[in-house]
Amino acid sequence: MSDTAISKKATSLSGDDNLPQPIRGDRGATILGPRNVPIERENPALLCSPSTDAGTIPNLKFSYAAARNRLAPGGWAREVTARELPVATTLAGVNMRLKPGGIRELHWHREAEWAFMLAGRARITAIDPQGRNFIDDVGVGDLWNFPAGIPHSIQGLEEGCEFLLVFDDGNFSENETFLVSDWFLHTPREILAKNFGVPESAFAGLPKDIEQSMWILSGDIPGPIAGDAVKAPAGAVTGYSYHLSQQKPVKVPGGQVRIVDSSNFPAANTIAAALVEIEPGGMRELHWHPTNDEWQYYIQGQARMSVFTPGKARTFDYQAGDVGYVPFVYGHYIENTGDGPLRYLEVFRSSYFADLSLNQWLGLTTPKLVERHLNFDQATMAALRKDKPILTPGPAPRAEET
Ligand code: MN
Ligand code: MN
Repeated sequence: MSDTAISKKATSLSGDDNLPQPIRGDRGATILGPRNVPIERENPALLCSPSTDAGTIPNLKFSYAAARNRLAPGGWAREVTARELPVATTLAGVNMRLKPGGIRELHWHREAEWAFMLAGRARITAIDPQGRNFIDDVGVGDLWNFPAGIPHSIQGLEEGCEFLLVFDDGNFSENETFLVSDWFLHTPREILAKNFGVPESAFAGLPKDIEQSMWILSGDIPGPIAGDAVKAPAGAVTGYSYHLSQQKPVKVPGGQVRIVDSSNFPAANTIAAALVEIEPGGMRELHWHPTNDEWQYYIQGQARMSVFTPGKARTFDYQAGDVGYVPFVYGHYIENTGDGPLRYLEVFRSSYFADLSLNQWLGLTTPKLVERHLNFDQATMAALRKDKPILTPGPAPRAEET
């Protein structure tokens, strides 16, 4: 190594360039070795973790930007499952895009499928075990839920669409669903002829290569829904979609929340969710959930979350397109750390949504008992809430750690 190279390296030891450095007060030191600055900038709470973080907590973040995207003639899909984020055993997510007319092939799977439309519109179809059929058009902010085993399809309308699918098993894979074309290809032709009561020649046009032509295939843009509906002798079934965009949100200081579970969307009997919108500087209160792990999807903005479990804590930063996770009963908060609104989904493998607020718990407990634990003064005791706060408006009076 030349003298010049050594002196350049010596300059960077000071850390006075414009790069993020893992230094807080008299702790830490500059990075001298290899580094990936864009990833470090996205994760300041990992690079320079708060002094309140402690111990070993598994990774609770995985971005769709780091997931394999499978491309098909009609669109694409990428998944974040227990294989990408091993702690996420309860739920798995798929981010899927369908071009105008693009079709997610007729299929079914052993997991229930809950979905949130991110952009554009789609037509969805299904049948139930009573022989009733379902068809609906869904737009931005709408949901659907197909219980385990129910066969269904999704097709992009004029503008195409993109959506998030959530399955009630962390080991789900989009590549392992029961495709209608796959079954035909794995059934003897004479059995197909017998089953459908037509000659074997009727099956000459079956697709030969599912990987290339099916799964997400291209298609013609569908016309009005009335023209696509089939009249079923047993009638229609209507409950597989839910127009969350039309649900009146619970407005609170700092933002708003829409909760959807089996109480207002009975088809979603294994998956409950909240769509949370937080103003800049606002915060989802310190809380936890008595139901199950929380699977998160960040739709818009930037967030910071710390999770707490006995003697341990870990803090993560999230951006739009990231998946976050909170193990069962871990305490946590989610702060909007961006300049604009934060929107994210909290999803649970549960028939109902439930949470417990730290603030409300203390507010509803004998004051002497609370004071004995935390030595709060009168003003702090008086500030404790008896109702459920959900969100704390911003900007919070918080001192940045230096
Ligand atoms: Mn499906
Ligand atoms: Mn939560």
